[in-house]
Amino acid sequence: MAQRLFGTNGVRGIVNEDMNVQLAMDLGRAIGTFMGGRVAIGNDPRTSADMIKSAVSCGLMAAGAEVIDIGMVPTPVVQFHVKENGLSGGVMITASHNPPEFNGIKCVDADGTEMPRQKEEEIERIYFQRSFRSRDWAGVGTLRRATGAVGPYLRSVMSLVDADAIRSAGLNAVLDCANGAGSVTAPRLLDDLDVRAVTLNSNPQGTFPGHPSEPVEAHLQDLISLVKASGADLGIAHDGDADRTIFVDDRGRYLYGDRSLAIVAEHMVRENGGGIVVTPVSSSMAVEDAVKRAGGEVVYTRVGAPVVARKMIETGAVFGGEENGGLIFPRHQYCRDGAMTVAKLLEIIATEGPLSELVDRIPQYCQDKRKMTCPDERKETVLSGLVEYYRGERVDTTDGVKIWFEGGWTLVRPSGTEPLFRIYTEARTENEAEKRSCDCQAVLESLLEEP
Ligand code: MG
Repeated sequence: MAQRLFGTNGVRGIVNEDMNVQLAMDLGRAIGTFMGGRVAIGNDPRTSADMIKSAVSCGLMAAGAEVIDIGMVPTPVVQFHVKENGLSGGVMITASHNPPEFNGIKCVDADGTEMPRQKEEEIERIYFQRSFRSRDWAGVGTLRRATGAVGPYLRSVMSLVDADAIRSAGLNAVLDCANGAGSVTAPRLLDDLDVRAVTLNSNPQGTFPGHPSEPVEAHLQDLISLVKASGADLGIAHDGDADRTIFVDDRGRYLYGDRSLAIVAEHMVRENGGGIVVTPVSSSMAVEDAVKRAGGEVVYTRVGAPVVARKMIETGAVFGGEENGGLIFPRHQYCRDGAMTVAKLLEIIATEGPLSELVDRIPQYCQDKRKMTCPDERKETVLSGLVEYYRGERVDTTDGVKIWFEGGWTLVRPSGTEPLFRIYTEARTENEAEKRSCDCQAVLESLLEEP
């Protein structure tokens, strides 16, 4: 098997340990060799941003690329900039929600989407074989700093929502950017939409002193308290590179990503008079319920935003997204888009009523998650046995094995890194979810015992 460098979210590591200048520069050379032409580069506010970005830029220029540095911006701004300006690609220096000692290098394809795996493999091949293109003195690239990438991005976002309805609704929001890159887009977006905003951690600071940059409930206690204390209509939180958005409703309830995904999915299907919504197999039934209620259809994919985006292009979907708050709006761009998510939810609240009421209309399911040991070499056989066992039922093998039953499903996915299966069940009650997981685990265990 070929050596791998890129994980599911680019190349990541601890700065000056595995993510060092040499790696960044050589990877820049490989990316420059692959992309050529004009390449945009941006970064989140991590303390190592300038160091890693400079090293990648050097590599890009050595391979002859013209580098356009658009500064500290959210990942979707780099993606939008590449697409709108017809560049040959982009690079984002970010480790998204990872702790501040990490940084990462992520590639953007010429159409603004996250780079598909086969192209990453090509870059990996150039990197490991050191088959870099090396230009002579007259052919090396240049670096130009370009300010102003945020303006066109935000204008495009606002052109795709009913801005007048939002402006006249007189909404109040509390905003938490996790001291990340959303600090340069989100306060400005709320201002442009006449939303009165109280801001928290909305000054970029690479040590993430406010809280870790993953927008989970435990990290958003200040946001939740402030929404309650101020009587705001909603709370808004971004992760470190602002491609994802998580919300708190007007009653101060933290909304798991499946809630906002379902609310927006239902709205998008209604707005389009039907259509396809794409989401990974692990997404809540609540999403399918909401989409069906609006007259749409769900298409499931493997887990991972790039796969969701590709499937959306293929099927002409009206909307797609993941439960972690990464929502994709095809009329804007085929990638997770923090500002677009904020603007669309504001429009929905302005036109359909309080967020808490929208949340209460979304069906609730209970979940059970567990792990089970299985040697790597047995995983495939056991999973085929499972499919055989449930023959005749609704079974989906897009990513692991998902078995549907009345009012829920069980999903078994082999871990890519450990000798185990992850078993997820969703059902109407806790008891049911637990029972279904146990039943499935029992089947897996008996299959494992077979010679
Ligand atoms: Mg992110």
